[in-house]
Amino acid sequence: MLISQQDIEGQLAPLLVDWYRQNARVLPFRTHSTPYRVWVSEIMLQQTRVAAALEHYNRFMQQLPTVQHLAECPEEKLMKLWEGLGYYSRARNLQKAAQVIVQQHGGELPADYKQLLELPGIGEYTAGAIASISFGLPVAAVDGNVLRVFARLYNDDSDILRPETKKEFTKRVLRCMPSDAAGDFNQAIMELGAVVCAPNGAPQCLACPVASICRGFAAGTASQLPVKTPPKARKIQPITVLLVQDEQGRYLIQKRPEKGLLAGLWQPPLLEEHVSPERAVDWLARQGLCAVYQKTGKTAKHIFSHIEWQMKALCLTASGNLQADQLLWATPEQLRTEYTLPNAFKAYKTTMTGEKVSKKPKNA
Ligand code: SF4
Repeated sequence: MLISQQDIEGQLAPLLVDWYRQNARVLPFRTHSTPYRVWVSEIMLQQTRVAAALEHYNRFMQQLPTVQHLAECPEEKLMKLWEGLGYYSRARNLQKAAQVIVQQHGGELPADYKQLLELPGIGEYTAGAIASISFGLPVAAVDGNVLRVFARLYNDDSDILRPETKKEFTKRVLRCMPSDAAGDFNQAIMELGAVVCAPNGAPQCLACPVASICRGFAAGTASQLPVKTPPKARKIQPITVLLVQDEQGRYLIQKRPEKGLLAGLWQPPLLEEHVSPERAVDWLARQGLCAVYQKTGKTAKHIFSHIEWQMKALCLTASGNLQADQLLWATPEQLRTEYTLPNAFKAYKTTMTGEKVSKKPKNA
């Protein structure tokens, strides 16, 4: 059976919105969806699965219930609330945007797509999501989920990483969008992409509410779509992690530079190569410490989008007067409650903080 463009454009919204209203997962930012809550949830969910983000989301909202609270939050506390989610620039941009909203918009998110786009950290997708979900504006919110669903729905093998494809798919979304239910329509596509038209070749077409108008399903090509150019190979970076304790059981930690990867966060001191214990002792001597090598620690790896850290740890004890501003001693209690150790150091957190680390977020 031939599925025409009119079939898709005429039937997609009623089928999908009806299904969404009956089947949507109950999530805290849906049941109580103020623009602020929608915004924070969309930023948090950009690189994190819903299940992994929920605990963080609830804690974040408890501690920072309004734009004003977020704008005024001390940086260390904000990083702690974001700890484990990764991509910490998201939290920093949230705060920068909150400060602009307080200064220029009276503490309320603007009900205008273009003004939303001007806020730090808000791109087309997030602006579209907030504008449609919170304010009912008929704008698209196209992310990877939406591109996947539309590639399958239209049986379209265009490379979804190309800007022209995104442009064309955005037009299709807008042609299908009902003017009186833009927010539910956008959320319905996202929900379909998350739970039915899933990634990695695993669409559940037999349970799909729009199977009757899906060209990919009809042609048997759904699981081969979407087409994406393979990403460039990641750079491999050897790293030596120094787990250094003083006689009081405190750990040496180091603040990362304010710009770049994991900007401004704390870490055990690290050297960007695999070094011998002697080199580690020398390095610590240059920071004013007299160190003694104890043993080799765990090896671990952490994958960022463009780089892979291959870490090996050296355990040392040390004493002396620190001569570097970016280094300090922290107790396990302070590491649990005060300083943010990114999940890149998950393998070492248990040792340093004395507590078990959640496995949930993958990419923090
Ligand atoms: S029928 Fe299958 S491929 Fe088509 S939208 Fe539904 S889940 Fe995706």
